[in-house]
Amino acid sequence: MTVTTVIPCTVTLSIGENGSVTADNTTYTGDASFQADPDTVLIYTITPEKGYEIDCVTYNGEDVMSSVAEGSYTAPALTGNAELIVTFAPAAHVHEWEDDYTVDREPSCTEEGSKSIHCKGCDEVKDSTAIPALGHAWDSGVVTKKATETEAGQIKYTCTRCGAVRYEKIPPKSSPKTGDGRPVGLWVGLLCLSGAVMAALLIRRRRKAGN
Ligand SMILES: [Zn+2]
Ligand SMILES: [Zn+2]
Repeated sequence: MTVTTVIPCTVTLSIGENGSVTADNTTYTGDASFQADPDTVLIYTITPEKGYEIDCVTYNGEDVMSSVAEGSYTAPALTGNAELIVTFAPAAHVHEWEDDYTVDREPSCTEEGSKSIHCKGCDEVKDSTAIPALGHAWDSGVVTKKATETEAGQIKYTCTRCGAVRYEKIPPKSSPKTGDGRPVGLWVGLLCLSGAVMAALLIRRRRKAGN
């Protein structure tokens, strides 16, 4: 009578963060171990989390990354205890740009703002563009000092956006109105007329003196 004793092999798994390893229909994460009979051929399916990729696969101290095909590593038949180490790394990022500009800094009345195209997957931006300053939004003004016949008045304008103020003079009431030349024209006309009368009188006097 022959008794054959099969001593199982222990497979130790050391799986880095951001991924898992499936072997023989069991999924493992972190540090784990299981037992399998000698001569077993195990297929390890290595699955990174979204945004990560397989960084390094080491089997019994040997880098077997080149033997990993489509996320699977087929180990040699077990001859004793084995160890699989897998690490994951953030997947190489390809920027995916948004279609529209995002305002990064709102323009104010006096300072320009900026906008840019943002990446959907990271903080990177491109095509940063200045947004012109808005300029003040003046209200219709409040008379703070009424003009008199002789003294100028004052009107105060306030920006409805930032509160900046601006003052403008109101001309005295007695000053000639601009845009209506009649009072000025009248004065000029009168001056001309009086000049002509004076000239005529002078000429007449000279004639008399000459006679
Ligand atoms: Zn990006
Ligand atoms: Zn303003």
